[in-house]
Amino acid sequence: MEEKNKKAAPGRVTMITLGCAKNLYDSEKVLGGLAGAGVEVAHDTEPRPGDTVIVNTCGFIRPAQEESIDTILSLAEARRRGRIRRLIVMGCLVERFADTLQQEIPEVDHWIGANKTDEVIQRLISRPLDNWHHHLLRRPLTPRHYAYLKIAEGCDRPCAFCAIPQMRGRFRSRPIEELVQEARRMADQGVRELIIIAQDTTYYGLDIYGKRRLADLLQAIADIAPLQWVRLHYAFPTGFPMEVLEVMRRHPKICNYLDIPLQHVATPVLQRMRRGMTEEKTYQIIDTIRQKNPDIAIRSTFLVGFPGETEDDFQRLLRFIETTRLDRVGVFTYSHEEGTHAFQYADDVPEEVKESRAAALMETQRTISYEKQQALIGRRLPVILDHREENGWIGRTEYDSPEVDNEVWLPAAVEAAPGDFLTVHITAADEYTLTAMPV
Ligand code: SF4
Repeated sequence: MEEKNKKAAPGRVTMITLGCAKNLYDSEKVLGGLAGAGVEVAHDTEPRPGDTVIVNTCGFIRPAQEESIDTILSLAEARRRGRIRRLIVMGCLVERFADTLQQEIPEVDHWIGANKTDEVIQRLISRPLDNWHHHLLRRPLTPRHYAYLKIAEGCDRPCAFCAIPQMRGRFRSRPIEELVQEARRMADQGVRELIIIAQDTTYYGLDIYGKRRLADLLQAIADIAPLQWVRLHYAFPTGFPMEVLEVMRRHPKICNYLDIPLQHVATPVLQRMRRGMTEEKTYQIIDTIRQKNPDIAIRSTFLVGFPGETEDDFQRLLRFIETTRLDRVGVFTYSHEEGTHAFQYADDVPEEVKESRAAALMETQRTISYEKQQALIGRRLPVILDHREENGWIGRTEYDSPEVDNEVWLPAAVEAAPGDFLTVHITAADEYTLTAMPV
């Protein structure tokens, strides 16, 4: 195996990204910086002999950790056999388990934590980073017409089941000017839909401006001419800045869409989760959001099987789903994570009960989704086209975010291009797909 750490030219750099959209954003920064320094880069492709490979890992819950470790081990074998030039592992898994990983997988050349994209770039290029605007560079890894904008790093919330604050640190907002500049550059490069992400977007501004400024930021970004849709993800229910709903309702380019993970509804569970919410407050915030913006689509995610969750707690959650009829719902089963506050509790809900509760919740939501989709038949809606498949176009309404929500299907004969906006007439619907014709 070639001597480690020698700063030879990296050859082509292939990157593999695991985990969430925030990780994808970091990978775009690394590849953008390397490409800006003249390095040949590739993403999620089979490494070629002689490549340098970077794995951007996820450390959130066990299944994600296992996927990251399996990926590293398969590349460590290639490194040991000299098939790849260098192996760099970065991201959340390193933040959590660096010591153990370094001992167990010596083939890895560099272990670099999360929020250290500059360090990754600097490891692979000869000239110092500080004299050129590498931080402005991103190599888009999403289709050209939509992109993510990470507005802050880290999280200050105390959620009992979550290890993210340990991996990503305290909440750090990026200045509005810098974000608007980046959004404008993305728009100039063809982005028409910008998706606002962070661990907790509603906390934006509290650290650097002493007050919540998400509404100001959304307004400033939505005013950027070429952008047509601005979409908000990862809102936190406690202390939700209601002015966001006002700017969303008023500004035609801000999607009437809100992703607000609620995690649960039963007060005893919410208290042990340290979410700062109650059952009553959870119903209230959904009512308030809908009063302030009746046309809004609400997406939420729930966690079932948290320590101590009783059948009655779960039935309360099911009743909430049946009653509030949210538009988009995701569900996770609780993962007992070392280092989290909840790790001190007994993981007392059996796995099969966790699974059956998750399945029951999604089955209830599937019926609701079907009824809501059926109600759209006959409506005219703006749609963005994402890609063309053999038998037709796949697009989305403003109520659907890429990768996680519903889709719209149009005939292949439609003359159009990815990123085009069309007004369509909805002709048919099933739980998760609408069928439509251009108007
Ligand atoms: S808001 Fe809670 S669940 Fe989300 S990243 Fe922060 S601590 Fe984790």
